[in-house]
Amino acid sequence: MELKKFVDFNQLEVAFRAKTDETLRKRHFIFLAMQWPGLVKIGTELTKIALKFHLPVKTLIKTTIFDLFVGGETLDGCQRSSNELAAFGIGAIFDYSVEGEKSEEGFDDTMNEILRTIERAGEMDFIRFSAFKITGMGHFELLAKIHRGDVLTEDEQAAYDRIFRRVDRICRLAYEKDVSVLIDAEETWIQKPIDEISVKMMQTYNREKALIYYTYQMYCHSMLANLKKMHMAAVEGGYRLGAKLVRGAYMEKERARAEKMGYESPIQPHKEATDRDFDAAACYCVEHINQIGVFSGTHNEDSNYKLTLFMDEMGLQKNDYRVYFGQLYGMSDHISFNMANAGYNVIKYVPYGPLRAVMPYLIRRANENTSVKGQSSRELSLLAAEIKRRKIFKKQLGHQSKF
Ligand SMILES: Cc1cc2nc3c(=O)[nH]c(=O)nc-3n(C[C@H](O)[C@H](O)[C@H](O)COP(=O)(O)OP(=O)(O)OC[C@H]3O[C@@H](n4cnc5c(N)ncnc54)[C@H](O)[C@@H]3O)c2cc1C
Repeated sequence: MELKKFVDFNQLEVAFRAKTDETLRKRHFIFLAMQWPGLVKIGTELTKIALKFHLPVKTLIKTTIFDLFVGGETLDGCQRSSNELAAFGIGAIFDYSVEGEKSEEGFDDTMNEILRTIERAGEMDFIRFSAFKITGMGHFELLAKIHRGDVLTEDEQAAYDRIFRRVDRICRLAYEKDVSVLIDAEETWIQKPIDEISVKMMQTYNREKALIYYTYQMYCHSMLANLKKMHMAAVEGGYRLGAKLVRGAYMEKERARAEKMGYESPIQPHKEATDRDFDAAACYCVEHINQIGVFSGTHNEDSNYKLTLFMDEMGLQKNDYRVYFGQLYGMSDHISFNMANAGYNVIKYVPYGPLRAVMPYLIRRANENTSVKGQSSRELSLLAAEIKRRKIFKKQLGHQSKF
């Protein structure tokens, strides 16, 4: 069925208005290279080895894939990217993408960095968001143990209390600065402590409005019911539910683990089921918008269109402060820029961190973009179309100028 459209993602001049010809060509080249799974695989392995042996590959990575998907090495280094977005009415979520911290000192450092991103977001004139992962605040294994319901030692309990205190410091500062916080979702086998902490934060800080957002991975077959249950609990508890909706990024890992360990996979049986539940969740949130704030994190065009449709059906303004559309930096600019141009609240995750530390994030993006069915072929054809459009446009200008 053809959807009624409130925004046209195919307006190329809007989608790429922030990009110079040179940037477009560079992006086109990188997305073209990423079409080859073999190249990405070899490139990934070679990069790992080169970085390990301190070979001089930093400049190459920095001027290519890092430049495409990452805002900078430091928070200050993201200024150019966030200014570029702000110029077109798009917000930025500074996402400190350092993964794999293992020490208490490292967790404190990560917390301090997140606090800085909140301070920075608090200085923004519009769309003030920040995001973080609970695994940046404490040991993955400890979270997995809590999820399983194992008895904790005294030291482990103390470590869990520290995780809670770190998260609370982040959420408290966000509350003071009026900055929304997205708590990212990760593997399902650490989910219970994340649920517990997130709900406590919402109970404390979401009394007036949805400020703290829990992430719902709609590729889990239980997630729609979970959203409704948590909504009911929020209504009973007298606080707003913050719902960040995503499809989910760990599908292969989840399925492989379930198969290996012999339990039922938490993942939907097929993509259509994930799509159906994602859109049903977005619809549910908008239908209960007086009690829910929704952040829709997707590059799926249909899901973005549908949410605009649900908003219209509920009589919401395009820029209603309770509905946000989110994409990742370097991806789907045709959605972000066209939605912002049409008047919706749009915000992009702008990851940052030292090159070596953001490599796992970059590798995930490169792999995600190799799929022929996926993102990169669409990005590629849009980039090619815009390069062609500019050539024709310039040619026409050239002809006109002769007269
Ligand atoms: C702003 C933003 C924030 C994000 N934050 C998080 C986060 O906190 N946690 C997280 O896990 N992910 C997060 N993601 C990533 C997200 O979960 C998706 O992996 C990614 O966005 C691709 O999904 P899509 O909706 O954009 O597009 P689509 O291309 O329409 O969907 C692809 C997704 O569909 C699902 N899928 C694909 N095939 C199947 C199948 N056979 N059966 C069932 N499901 C299938 C998978 O989830 C896959 O990633 C975020 C994405 C964005 C844009």
